[in-house]
Formats: sequence, C-alpha cells, structure tokens
Amino acid sequence: MGEYGLKSTLILPKQILFGTGVRADLAKLAKRFGNKVLLVYGGRSFAESGMKSEVSGLFGQAGMEVYEMGGTGHDPDEDTINRAVVTVLDIKPDCIVGIGGGSVIDTAKAASIIVTNGGAVKDYWGGRKFVNPSIPYIAVPTTAGTGAEVTKNAVITSADKSYKKSIRSELMIPDIALVDPSLTLTVPPPVTADTGLDALVQNIEAYTSKNSGPITDTLARKGIELAGRYLVRGFEDPADLEAREALSLASLYGGITLLNAGLGLAHGLSHPIGIRFGVPHGRACAAVMPKVMEYNYPAQKRKYDEIGMLLGAKNSIDGFIGLIEKLDIPRRLRLLGITEADLKTIVTESRGGSRNYNPIPHTDETVEKMLREML
Ligand code: NAD
Repeated sequence: MGEYGLKSTLILPKQILFGTGVRADLAKLAKRFGNKVLLVYGGRSFAESGMKSEVSGLFGQAGMEVYEMGGTGHDPDEDTINRAVVTVLDIKPDCIVGIGGGSVIDTAKAASIIVTNGGAVKDYWGGRKFVNPSIPYIAVPTTAGTGAEVTKNAVITSADKSYKKSIRSELMIPDIALVDPSLTLTVPPPVTADTGLDALVQNIEAYTSKNSGPITDTLARKGIELAGRYLVRGFEDPADLEAREALSLASLYGGITLLNAGLGLAHGLSHPIGIRFGVPHGRACAAVMPKVMEYNYPAQKRKYDEIGMLLGAKNSIDGFIGLIEKLDIPRRLRLLGITEADLKTIVTESRGGSRNYNPIPHTDETVEKMLREML
C-alpha cells in the first residue's frame, strides 16, 4: 500500500469557526443551545484586557442570562475541576463557554462532561467511562498553542500536584470551537514562545506518529510551516496580527491532528517535566524534542527531511534548535532544574498515553538514556 492509502480518520467538533473578529458571533452561537450561558475564564488578564466585559456584553445584547466563573488558574487540578462541577450543578446552564488558554478550556471541558455523568476526576482516571453527552460546550482559545478547543481530552493535575493525566472521551469534543486570532494579541512573549512551540511539536509529533495518515498529514505539514515561519515574528512583535493569525491556525491544526493521529514521546515526557519542575507545557515539549527527533529519524526519514525544509533548514533538528534558540528556550534539562536523580521518576511517569503513538517503540531504559544525554 502507498502512503495515500494509509488509514486516516478525521473527527472534529460539530463546528469550527476561525477568523479575526469571529468572536462577534459568540452569543449567536451560544443562543442555539438556550438562553442561560456560563462563561468560564481564567486570570486577571482576561478581565483587564476588557475582553470579559466585551464578551459578557455580547451575551447581554442577545438577551441571554449570563453567569461567570473566573480565576480557574493555571494547569487545573482535581480540586479546581470539582469546584467547577459544583458551580455548574448550581447554575444549570444551557451552554458553557470556556474562554482562555488550554488550562481554562480543559477546566470547562472537564466540568461540562462530569456534570452530566456524575462522579469525580479520579473515577474516570480509574477507568469509569463517560456515557452521556456533555452540556453543550463552546471553546474559545486565547493562546495559540494547545489546540484544546477541538480535542477529546482534558489534562488534569492530581490534588497532591504529583502527576498530570488526561480524562478523555469523544463525548468531550467541544460542540463548537471558535478561534479568533485577535484574542491572542495580548499574550506576552514568553507565553507566545511556550504555546507556539506546543503547537509546533504537536504538529511534528502527529505528522510522524505511527497513527499518521494522509488527511492529518496535510494539516500537520501546514501547521509546521506556519509555526516555523511566524513564531519568531509573533514573539518579537506581539501586535503582529498576521503572525497571530498564522499561529492560531497552526495551533488549530495541531489540535485536529493530535486528536486524530496521536502524538509521541516528547509529549509523553512533557507531563512529568511540566508538573514536577514547574515548566510550561510547550517549553517542556520543546526541550526534549531535538533528542526525540534524532531517535525517531530512522522510522520517518522522508517526513523529517521535509520538516527540515518546512523550517527552512538543512535538517529538522537544526531547524528546530535554530528556532528555540531565537525564542530563548533552554535546551539542556539541567537548566529546567532536572538532575540525574530525577530521571527514573520522569520515565515512570511518562508511560502510556502519547508514548504509545511514537513511531519507534522504546523501553524505559532507552528513554532514560535519552534523558541522560539531554541533561
Ligand atoms: P495556560 O492556559 O496555562 O495559559 C498560560 C498563561 O497565559 C496564563 O497565565 C494565562 O492567564 C495567560 N493567558 C492566556 N491567554 C492570554 C491572553 N490572551 N493574553 C494574556 N495572557 C493570557 O497555557 P496553555 O499553554 O494555553 O495551556 C496549557 C494547559 O493546557 C496545560 O495544562 C496543558 O497540559 C494543557 N493542554 C491540553 C491539551 C488538550 O488537548 N486538552 C493539549 C495540550 C495542552
């Protein structure tokens, strides 16, 4: 069988609305589900930028009853989700709108489905299945990175903050993803770098995943090209709207491709590194990516050569390293606070999930050796 005959699926939200200014359509979309809307948002930046009053105003003008839940914070943990569930049960909205970075989108996504299925995060980590659809959910990203507006999982940190793990179900895919790149104009440069690298690594890992196929490949290739071409521009000039638009598209493509093709070893390792050492998700992915590319090269030579070309370099590793150097991202694990004594824990906690889709199978010993070479 040729490359174009490979099995490839495309599961998506019921609607994706992309474009600068499309946030003006938010109330009209939410009203499809009823009159009572719960707006979930994160930190101060959303209120201070004037965006919260603008969005609430849109719902108000549409004659909707608006409730708000703010301060959901960074990297949601079990307690955050359980609190969000209590709020949703209390308000009983017809529709939930989660507007923020991946942390907010995941908080609202998890609450929307737990409310209709009962129980708590731990039950679903333990194998309980979601059987009922979630409360209608519209996800609106304000960072260009995770693609969580289209995915079927929510990444949650344990209550004792020792590990991060997803809950997942196709029933968790948001009903609508509304992606307005102008919402990302206020993202500060370090967050632009971290989130943009998450998008780039997602597209690279989905493109080279053992589950990749022609449909997702088309999107992933474009996502890599856009992130490679525009990330430094968005980092250097936050007001560069064209760069923000390209990065939002790359992020959306990363979400679609990860949902349908899976990821790989870099994402597997990023969870323990992120949670144990307080490293932002995309930064953790980027730090390990060059070594992962080197390891995976024999299985996906043609694709990695093409990634090098898309990044405007003579090979994918040089292209990727050149980019992260311009973004001030540390490459050595010790610069993230990791020592030899931490390696076994990172390996153990990276098992399962994304690692299953890596194009080359690997033992824990191999991964530990790779991490040692990255110290
Ligand atoms: P984030 O949501 O944690 O936000 C990072 C920071 O940026 C926060 O301080 C936030 O307040 C701020 N911010 C967000 N939007 C802003 C804006 N427009 N202007 C100014 N500041 C803004 O970061 P993220 O990278 O978007 O999300 C990371 C989380 O998403 C992690 O918990 C990660 O595990 C998870 N994740 C989920 C998926 C998924 O498919 N569900 C995929 C990848 C990552």
